[in-house]
Amino acid sequence: MSAQKVRTIAVLGAGTMGHGIAHAAMTAGFDTALYDVSEAAVTKGKSAIDAVITKSVELGKATDADAASMRSRLRTTTSVADAVRNADVVIEAAPEKIDLKLALFKDAEAAAPAHAVFASNTSALSITEMAAVLANPGRMGGMHFFNPVHRMKLIEIVKALDTTPDTIAVMEEVSAKMGKETVLVKESPGFVTSRINAMIGNEAFYMLQEGVASARDIDKALKLGLNHPMGPFELVDLVGLDTRLSILQYLHRTLGEKFRPSPLLEQHVKDGRLGRKAGKGVYDY
Ligand code: NAD
Repeated sequence: MSAQKVRTIAVLGAGTMGHGIAHAAMTAGFDTALYDVSEAAVTKGKSAIDAVITKSVELGKATDADAASMRSRLRTTTSVADAVRNADVVIEAAPEKIDLKLALFKDAEAAAPAHAVFASNTSALSITEMAAVLANPGRMGGMHFFNPVHRMKLIEIVKALDTTPDTIAVMEEVSAKMGKETVLVKESPGFVTSRINAMIGNEAFYMLQEGVASARDIDKALKLGLNHPMGPFELVDLVGLDTRLSILQYLHRTLGEKFRPSPLLEQHVKDGRLGRKAGKGVYDY
């Protein structure tokens, strides 16, 4: 597949990240298929996309005609095979569970065109492990987007063991068309950003647990003292505490003791305090 020929993108998973990635693809002019496991999940993703488009019209960043043409580029489905049948690029944004992702890529490859490039938006898991379930692992790499996708400029492009230069070129070209900057990262647990971010966020939970300062003051200290645009608790509420915990558990297994998840974070997840998406996380919404 050459980069200039990408017309159609399939996004697998319509949650926090999937809907944002689909929106970025539609905005870049790609025909976009959005898949999720249930009608309810697809409808939720579609409404979230609608809300972003409506807001961009209100802010004068898009005209009514742009909005209509963007919406006309989206197709939703609850069948993986239907989502990928004419896809040039498949971007997976399903939950951060390796077995689920392996099964999904296997199903997707069986129904996708032979030239399609596959990318995972995983925050930390091994792209090489995912590529290994494909008959042609060279056509798989990582495209790690950030939340919220329409506001965040970066995509980390991840080169797995077998990822070919052509696959990297397609992912870079698609990212550029979406208006994003890229960095190229050799596969390693958590890449650059998740590894650093998980470390800071976990340390913040340990400090909260030890009573070093309140959540509000830890957030304030990092924002005003270290010039972080968001505090670690504001950020984890946006990311999802369950997603963050899965990342930490993986980094703990692969990189060792320094990533042991804070018991207070584990407790929040057990309590259903999953962040903004649940209406409550470290803070209440
Ligand atoms: P989410 O829970 O908001 O959304 C996941 C979606 O996947 C849900 O809509 C769910 O219905 C759907 N799903 C469940 N089983 C599926 C299956 N078998 N096939 C396809 N879809 C399925 O999660 P999210 O925050 O969007 O995270 C998705 C991926 O993106 C994860 O790998 C995560 O690590 C990564 N990521 C998340 C963030 C973030 O800030 N949330 C940032 C970068 C990357």
